Amino acid sequence: MLTLGIETSCDETAVALVEDGKLLCEKLATQIDVHALFGGVVPEIASREHLRVLPCLFQELLVETGILASDIDNVAVARGPGLLGSLLVGVSFAKGLSLATGATLIGVNHLWAHLLAPGLVEELAFPALGLLVSGGHTHTYLISSPIEFELLGRTLDDAAGEAFDKVAKLLNFPYPGGRFIDMLGHEAEPDTRLFPRPYIDNSSLDFSFSGLKTAVAQYVASHPELIFSEMADTDAIEALSSNERHNLATVCASFNWSVVETLKIKVERALQQTRRVKSLVIAGGVAANTRLRNTMQEFAVKKSLQLTLPELDLCTDNGAMVAYAGSLLIEAGYSHGLDIEAIPRGQVVPMDWKVGKSV
Ligand code: ATP
Ligand code: MG
Ligand code: FE
Repeated sequence: MLTLGIETSCDETAVALVEDGKLLCEKLATQIDVHALFGGVVPEIASREHLRVLPCLFQELLVETGILASDIDNVAVARGPGLLGSLLVGVSFAKGLSLATGATLIGVNHLWAHLLAPGLVEELAFPALGLLVSGGHTHTYLISSPIEFELLGRTLDDAAGEAFDKVAKLLNFPYPGGRFIDMLGHEAEPDTRLFPRPYIDNSSLDFSFSGLKTAVAQYVASHPELIFSEMADTDAIEALSSNERHNLATVCASFNWSVVETLKIKVERALQQTRRVKSLVIAGGVAANTRLRNTMQEFAVKKSLQLTLPELDLCTDNGAMVAYAGSLLIEAGYSHGLDIEAIPRGQVVPMDWKVGKSV
């Protein structure tokens, strides 16, 4: 069974072909450079870029694999959550292809796809506790099977990735700055008194990262010498004196520590409040974070849980995860008609879906 995956939910245009649960080929074009000029994703530009690039990527995929469009059995597309204009480009392309070739159409929840992605390389053990930490979301799920996700906790304000990007912006790192905080952060020990671990003194499974961002903003406002006067590039970071670099690294390490410890505490709480799970699956762009990976590895050993942490290229947006998640839905008997709509936010499940809480 040959499944095409189409991903256009945010600022990555991606297509991939998955055959019987294995990735055959993928193509990805990132718009990071286009949006970096503005310090964040500009929705109108994102949709236009998807429109420009998607047909070319699809053509490249066919040429490289020697597969004909008519050979594709299923077309899976990320239908949300994401930017409406961007999602519509992918959904419209998927509908057109399905109409032209007769391939089965399936709309996929982008967040579930993130969490299922590691299933492309290793067998996932269910029930699993899923931690999705991406640019727009911080969710925990009880995943009973590849098609049964129950939302346990979610962020009340900023997502973890958003907190990384906003703090990076405060420090004048280029967008998206999470990777710079990660890179500098493991050059110093965290000062654990510097920033709070937000929203942990309660019994909630939800997250709230906006106060942490404010705490960093207040700290850097009283230490202006820490901030680059203009947007830093790798050369500007290299040009710091060892003392300056150490001070900046301490802020990065301390902020990174606060986020990671908070995630760990909430995951531990979610484990206590749910029935026994076999594994912990972590996905989304922030799963690339070195401190998060190391901390969760230790945590999983302590809890005797199988830990599934995807390789870095499967952590961020890609077409393979959409193709794979779509093929699992189709195997389970689901499909969509040509009237499928993009769902930018809120519940992204087929009409007849079983879920605990809305996604
Ligand atoms: P969503 O899936 O919620 O719609 P998204 O797909 O845009 O959002 P991803 O591409 O999964 O999000 O992740 C991007 C985020 O990951 C950005 O916020 C980025 O800063 C963050 N990120 C990437 N690498 C790292 C890292 N090493 N450390 C911390 N954060 C990182
Ligand atoms: Mg992205
Ligand atoms: Fe994503």
